Amino acid sequence: MFMGVLKLIKGNYDAIIVGAGPIGSMVADRISKKNYDVLLVEEHYEIGKPVQCAGLITPRAFDLVDCRKHILNDVRGAQIFSPKGHTLSIDGGKEKAVVIDRASFDKEIVKSAIKNGAELSLGARAVKAERKNEKIKLTLYSNGRKMEAASKILIGADGIQSNVARWFALPRPKKILSCFQAEMVNIDIDLNFVKIFIGNEVAPQFFAWIIPTDAGKARVGLCTYGANGSSYFYFKRLFKNDISKQFLKEAQSINYTAGAIPIGRVSRTYDDNIMIVGDAAAQVKATSGGGIYPGLVCAKHCGEVAVTSLESNDFSKNLLSNYQKRCMKEIGKELKNDMRIHEVFAGLSDRQFEEIIDILDDEELLKIISEVGDMDYPSKVGWALLRKEPRLLKFVGVALKTFF
Ligand SMILES: Cc1cc2nc3c(=O)[nH]c(=O)nc-3n(C[C@H](O)[C@H](O)[C@H](O)COP(=O)(O)OP(=O)(O)OC[C@H]3O[C@@H](n4cnc5c(N)ncnc54)[C@H](O)[C@@H]3O)c2cc1C
Repeated sequence: MFMGVLKLIKGNYDAIIVGAGPIGSMVADRISKKNYDVLLVEEHYEIGKPVQCAGLITPRAFDLVDCRKHILNDVRGAQIFSPKGHTLSIDGGKEKAVVIDRASFDKEIVKSAIKNGAELSLGARAVKAERKNEKIKLTLYSNGRKMEAASKILIGADGIQSNVARWFALPRPKKILSCFQAEMVNIDIDLNFVKIFIGNEVAPQFFAWIIPTDAGKARVGLCTYGANGSSYFYFKRLFKNDISKQFLKEAQSINYTAGAIPIGRVSRTYDDNIMIVGDAAAQVKATSGGGIYPGLVCAKHCGEVAVTSLESNDFSKNLLSNYQKRCMKEIGKELKNDMRIHEVFAGLSDRQFEEIIDILDDEELLKIISEVGDMDYPSKVGWALLRKEPRLLKFVGVALKTFF
């Protein structure tokens, strides 16, 4: 259905969105719903492929996009393994997160944008953009053919490498995590729980995961930062490490993916005629690497501010700055706190990880984690735990100074 070669129906658009990931597609959906001429440009020939995602989100995302039918599994908690194997079991008792079929999820959002009248160009790579006569002129290549299109607004939803951000000199993310993941079968896993492995020998500055998708099936992966060696190096170690290998003895991979996650949201996401959104703007939770929910929240604001700008025929950075203000108000503070939590986490030694897991393995604290814990707003549980257990303060002492 979504296979094809670039054929631009019109040359002039109200808005062009570069990148038909979930975030760009949602922006296209929101603007086209108001009957504006929208072009959505995607360099790949199929939406959602290749998949570079573990697909773990909270059901809250479905308040923004109608994609519930692409859920593969519900999870109600997590088991966190310390470097020495001390396990912290957090059981939310009910659906806390869901695992989605990411390619179908992406396709569903694009389908809705097309239904609203957005034009989709697959296999089309945006290679240049410049401001000309108060519009943006975009150059695209498809199958060796050069095409040009003009628009009043250009939206960069073009992921971590965002060319749109580079062309218009917008700031870039603070950190890029390097990730590797495989879809695997023959895994010994409880479908209700995600498994998380922490430690400087496991996944430096981040963590490794086993996320169940179906009976015996899971996504096994990790992200690292600044490690001596690639994420693939640490991925292979998961099958040798005593703690993780117990679940992976018989595991066989169906496919692999390498990817990257930007964290540390950028300080400016707009310019005259321009907005960047999603991974392009590092709108990602630094605690978990989850970019779908915060990206969708920001896509909603990006689409709405684009519509206001088209209605008032004002494409100035002054008006478009409302996009960033609105994102900041809804999710910016959380993203900022998540980055601080990440920085504390990234600086911990294995001995400190053991100490923290020992402290948290307490009935009352586990109750707080299950009740207050929220993957989209992790700082809430952080504060609740710090209030209850002062021994945790010593781990965040340095970071706390920057909070106030
Ligand atoms: C291993 C891994 C696991 C992850 N797991 C999770 C998870 O469990 N939960 C979660 O919430 N998030 C997860 N993420 C993050 C999540 O995948 C991203 O945050 C999300 O995909 C961002 O969506 P996006 O639309 O902004 O960017 P993308 O999905 O990257 O889409 C950008 C699109 O732009 C296109 N594009 C780029 N440049 C051009 C160009 N010049 N011309 C035309 N098209 C172009 C690309 O082809 C791509 O389709 C994970 C990421 C990785 C790497």
